[in-house]
Amino acid sequence: MRLNLAPEVATVSASAQGEQVFELLAQDLLSKARRARLTTAHGVIETPAFIPVGTQGSVKAVSPRELHELGAEIILGNTYHLFVRPGIDVIRHFGGLHRFMNWGGPILTDSGGYQIFSLAKLRKITEEGVDFQNHVDGTPAFLTPEIAMEIQTTLGSDIAMVLDECAPYPCDYDYAARSAEMTTRWAKRCKEWKSRNGESENRRLTDSPILQLANSLLFGIVQGATFDDLRKSSAQAIVDLDFDGFAIGGVSVGEPEEEMMRAVESAEPFLPNNKPRYAMGLGTPPQLLEMIARGMDMFDCVLPTRLARNGTAFTPTGTLNLKNAEFALDKSPIEENCACYACSEFSRGYIRHLIKAEEILGLRLITLHNLHFYLDLMRQAREQIENQKFDEFRKSFVSKYKTRDLDLAERV
Ligand SMILES: [Zn+2]
Repeated sequence: MRLNLAPEVATVSASAQGEQVFELLAQDLLSKARRARLTTAHGVIETPAFIPVGTQGSVKAVSPRELHELGAEIILGNTYHLFVRPGIDVIRHFGGLHRFMNWGGPILTDSGGYQIFSLAKLRKITEEGVDFQNHVDGTPAFLTPEIAMEIQTTLGSDIAMVLDECAPYPCDYDYAARSAEMTTRWAKRCKEWKSRNGESENRRLTDSPILQLANSLLFGIVQGATFDDLRKSSAQAIVDLDFDGFAIGGVSVGEPEEEMMRAVESAEPFLPNNKPRYAMGLGTPPQLLEMIARGMDMFDCVLPTRLARNGTAFTPTGTLNLKNAEFALDKSPIEENCACYACSEFSRGYIRHLIKAEEILGLRLITLHNLHFYLDLMRQAREQIENQKFDEFRKSFVSKYKTRDLDLAERV
């Protein structure tokens, strides 16, 4: 059986058509917020953008068609999880991740490093790479910057990430400094791998469903833990290597929110204006707006999908735990005036019943609402930046939103 791919799957070559890859459309006057457009081989991403996380080749509980209907323009694929299961050979057999999961839009893949450090049984980090045993069946594997690039190329990534070491929190200065320096050397090796293989791959894969390597984008990652001078030197070193975009890594790893904001503030002034900036693994709705105000453009976070499975829904005033008894007879939707499917058609009381009865529909409805909430927040941010009202919007949103402990950002 042939899969019918959505029309938007048609690969367009951004560079071949001479389009600008990153176009800055508006800049907020009262903050560093930017409104921009990033063109990738599988489509355009309006920024600020939220990237739903498709950990194992699936954004948990929602289909690619639903993601498209929600207005998601890009999703994230976790290289580590796909490498462990089903394995890269299986995805190669299906012609890349876009075809395997039937998602026609852009895909950003991480390098796999973060999960090796957080999930796998780590055996050894050396200059050459990372030796680990996966968390599923303990199979040993070795990941180098070059192998991370090769895997992401096989996945058909539109935006690939360099392999980096995400230093833990807390972390002492010397370790953070050595780690950030190694991350820079690994970034250089990723870039060199792409230059070496880009042209030959491009010729060989001209008619292949796998995205041509030359048309994919590669982002560098700034590390440096919670140390301002290391964030600065890491940003400068990574920017010198000239990537298509720049990510801030090593944030949302358990540090207090002020430290997270400072890590971004320390690196941001050294990032070029004409390239996209991606704050990795963030965050709560107010954190996203604060990051946008600090000049960040792209975000990925598991909170909307993960908290949904726990019965937790996002609203403009904070999260609601729909398991609570107070919602049993509540006929109102999760959020008044929300345009999502769950809020258009179902009551809090019914969704609470589904969650309590462990009916799959319950977590699906909350997931749809939560993803809509995050994507809509980005739509509002874009509009407010265009209208020069972002700062007012951010302050008003943040003051109304009550953060609870369970909101603490946590990555896969
Ligand atoms: Zn809703």
